[in-house]
Amino acid sequence: MASPLLKLLIVVVVGAACSSAGAAASYRQPLCYSWRFNVEVNNVRDWTVVPEACESYVASYMSGDAYQEDSREALQQALSFAYLVFNSSSSASSPAFSYNAWVLDIDETSLSNAPYYAEHRFGVEAYNDTLFNAWISEAAAPALPATLNLFNTLKNLGFSVFFLTGRSEDKRNATIANLLNAGYSGWEGLILRQSEDAGVTAVLYKSGKRKALEDLGYFIVGNVGDQWSDLSGYSVGSRVFKLPNPMYYVA
Ligand SMILES: [Mg+2]
Repeated sequence: MASPLLKLLIVVVVGAACSSAGAAASYRQPLCYSWRFNVEVNNVRDWTVVPEACESYVASYMSGDAYQEDSREALQQALSFAYLVFNSSSSASSPAFSYNAWVLDIDETSLSNAPYYAEHRFGVEAYNDTLFNAWISEAAAPALPATLNLFNTLKNLGFSVFFLTGRSEDKRNATIANLLNAGYSGWEGLILRQSEDAGVTAVLYKSGKRKALEDLGYFIVGNVGDQWSDLSGYSVGSRVFKLPNPMYYVA
């Protein structure tokens, strides 16, 4: 078996060989990797579309194993934390434990819109409200497998799981249908934007809804999202877990 270092060397050597064969294509890839890395760690902000030069890179990342593997690794950490809390709780076997809550975002967290974005150049095309809403109404987005696995484990351990989404209240029925179609069931609550939330930033909207859960007596153990606006502000929870999303940015 080749060691990880040897594998890296092979990749570098093969990459160098390819670069002499097609300078433009191979030059792009490292730049797009750096762009994506800086998107994920929140250095690159307020971008509206994926750089055109990175379309094939993002398409390959989203369609290949890397996206699923990165998601699995992120949520493996979430699972470990959930077990840590469960195992150290004196109320783990009592109904009181259900006041320990997890908050999951929906788009690109619980459900994957990759099939939609595959039809729209993986984020190179500007966001189109009409087209995306039509997609939502189909209720056809598959689950992100790592999140469905986390959801089922959290439920089995006795945590209360809340979905908190930037989708508006008029999408409730389509969202419920989609979650069920994708294999989710038994959530404690589904929180959508109400009319009074219109115009409120994602950070403040989501912070306010999480604070409302705390005011009901819930303790937010974990918070999972694909945008930093899911995971920042206040009442963020004991730990936050960031899933990858190189396709779009929500402030
Ligand atoms: Mg999202």
